[in-house]
Amino acid sequence: TYCDSNYYDFLFKIVLVGDSGVGKSNLLSRFINNEFYDNSSTTIGVEFQTKSMQIQGQLVKSQIWDTAGQERYRALTSAYYRNAVGALLIYDITDKRSFENLKKWVSELRNHSQQNTVLILVGNKCDLTTQRAVKIEDAERYAAHESKISQTLNLLDMAFIETSALNAKNVKVAFTNLINEIYKLAR
Ligand code: GDP
Ligand code: MG
Repeated sequence: TYCDSNYYDFLFKIVLVGDSGVGKSNLLSRFINNEFYDNSSTTIGVEFQTKSMQIQGQLVKSQIWDTAGQERYRALTSAYYRNAVGALLIYDITDKRSFENLKKWVSELRNHSQQNTVLILVGNKCDLTTQRAVKIEDAERYAAHESKISQTLNLLDMAFIETSALNAKNVKVAFTNLINEIYKLAR
């Protein structure tokens, strides 16, 4: 049955969230096609891309949603978030503003998602070490802070990882860790 591309045991919707320019589309293209675009102009025209993997003998299919650039106007629709069971919350380590704006993205996510959404905090562009504007400690502290809020709301912890879509560092790890966490809750 695995030869049938429509077959799966689990289907997860995952959304990419964060300011314009942080590298959402490139993280996705790195993960799905192992490709990077120097000068990506956002419109690819598809709402989501899918990735299938085996976890404990089960075929897990992830539908990973990317924006078409609407985040520039802070106008992600509720359809974007609807039924998402996981989210990558992405900022650019060279752009402090993108880190500070995460609070808004998290509250939007929490307002729109009906269920426990597994979150992972992703500091992208970690190849740009000399331009770093967000300290690892600050990101860790923020993730711990959100995890604490989550506990009182009976939600989930927020993990943290730094990635580079450019050199591929930790990209696979970020996505697969998230998918594994979602699977633990779903099985
Ligand atoms: P999005 O608006 O969040 O989808 O961001 P994009 O994926 O379109 O990336 C915005 C810009 O940042 C593009 O010029 C990318 O080439 C660049 N970019 C994305 N990820 C990285 C990265 O990990 N390292 C570096 N140096 N540049 C990146
Ligand atoms: Mg994009």
